Amino acid sequence: MDKKKYLKQYWGYDTFRPHQETIVDLVLQKKDVMVIMPTGGGKSLCYQLPAMIMEGMAIVVSPLISLMKDQVEALKANGISAEFYNSSLPSEYLMSIERNCLNGNVKILYVSPEKVVNTGFIHFLERLRISLIAIDEAHCVSFWGHDFRPEYAQLKRLKDFFPNVPFIALTATADKVTRKDILAQLGMEEAETFISSFDRPNLSLKVLPGRDRYKYISNFISKRGTQAGIIYCLSRKECEKLAGKLRENGFNAEFYHAGMDADARSKVQENFIKDEIQIICATIAFGMGIDKPNVRWVIHYSLPKNMENFYQEIGRAGRDGLASDTILFYSFRDYTWQLELLEEKTGERKELQRAKLERMKQYAEADICRRRILLSYFNENTEKDCGNCDVCKNPPSRFEGTVYAQKALSAIARANEKIALGMLIDILRGSMNKNVLEKGYQQMKTFGAGKDLRYEEWSEYIMQMLNMGVIDIAYDDGHSFKINEKSKSVLKGESSVSLVKFRPMAEKMAEMSEK
Ligand code: ADP
Ligand code: ZN
Repeated sequence: MDKKKYLKQYWGYDTFRPHQETIVDLVLQKKDVMVIMPTGGGKSLCYQLPAMIMEGMAIVVSPLISLMKDQVEALKANGISAEFYNSSLPSEYLMSIERNCLNGNVKILYVSPEKVVNTGFIHFLERLRISLIAIDEAHCVSFWGHDFRPEYAQLKRLKDFFPNVPFIALTATADKVTRKDILAQLGMEEAETFISSFDRPNLSLKVLPGRDRYKYISNFISKRGTQAGIIYCLSRKECEKLAGKLRENGFNAEFYHAGMDADARSKVQENFIKDEIQIICATIAFGMGIDKPNVRWVIHYSLPKNMENFYQEIGRAGRDGLASDTILFYSFRDYTWQLELLEEKTGERKELQRAKLERMKQYAEADICRRRILLSYFNENTEKDCGNCDVCKNPPSRFEGTVYAQKALSAIARANEKIALGMLIDILRGSMNKNVLEKGYQQMKTFGAGKDLRYEEWSEYIMQMLNMGVIDIAYDDGHSFKINEKSKSVLKGESSVSLVKFRPMAEKMAEMSEK
């Protein structure tokens, strides 16, 4: 059995991307694996290739019907017998697929999560020889991910029915909490985890104050000739308005959002892919599963609600690896608007979502290399600044902040890594409030060690530390700060921390618009 031969025959590729080959090998040995790769990283091959090599039929659980259809069509075009199975299909058609499966004519079957845990369907699957089970968008199983789906919660049942079949969980969401939770929820604690780098060095990163957005955008596009780009807006109305205005001014723009009917949407999408539409003003609904290599720029008209969405959306630019630009407009008003939207929603995960929005805001307001922030959010610590973001291009002045960092870290350590931001600052500043007294923190050695800084200053510096990966945060443990390897080396005096002097937001914004 020659993996490379299959890779060439069905996909036309000569080499594997990082991790792909090892993952394929493990699956062939019937081991469980978890694959964390950014969008466009090449996750599908990790289960499709072993599916072709192994005897029997592979099951792929995927949450989006539209994506399933595209994937199956692409596979068929490559000569792979794939089908998809979900409740949107007429029953005669489903019966014919079942017959094909029973006859051994299907190598890969895509199934929706609600169908795959249906008892009747599981009994049908038991009559087949199942080679592997892949769970795509696996973060949907976790409460801690950004897109929890109740129908994913039952997927663990599959493990009970098919204990000897290898499981592959795949996602582009890498935060530690979610990762741990995915393995637990799917009953695959033994799985080996593979994490690819999330870095997309060809994408430039830039944040601009949210003033005169239209003027900036029209100017920007005019300079870009016919380059394709996407402008992400928060609301449907905003998409329509912006696209209308751009058209009035002679630009080739269209809008796209979930309020349009399916036909209209796929037409816009197709025309964009064919380069007949140059600019799309879209809500987050746009882009799932589209693979247009030459998107040259992505603009965020407003602040996204979390870093996961932001990363996915900017990731639609520059898939061909060529230099591409991303711009985020930010104003404090956008942030409060997102907060209001959040408050309107029901559900217990509000606090987590608020924390995620907070990280997004910090990204927009930050004074340190934005790529480092982005990567450290996905638990990838880099030592070097990127040189391809607005902060790197116009670096603010810094001061030697190791002593401050050590004070904060030692307070975190002494409080047994159980404290969140407010309490940490109270301890550092020696505030005798009820919560501090209750826990006896006033007896701590570091209590009051940071009296010389104001609350906002501490808040800013601790956030800089978080964004630089000098500390971690655990959302599943009361948002408490955690010590990591980097923290230890700072505490031991083995590495230093340089901080950017605190400036009020208004001052910062004014500087940004001058650059
Ligand atoms: P993901 O599911 O991680 O978003 P895909 O599996 O859709 O990514 O792969 C993204 C693109 O990369 C696809 O066009 C795919 O054909 C291509 N690709 C995957 N593996 C390889 C490889 N080994 N060599 C070249 N291209 C690859
Ligand atoms: Zn940078």
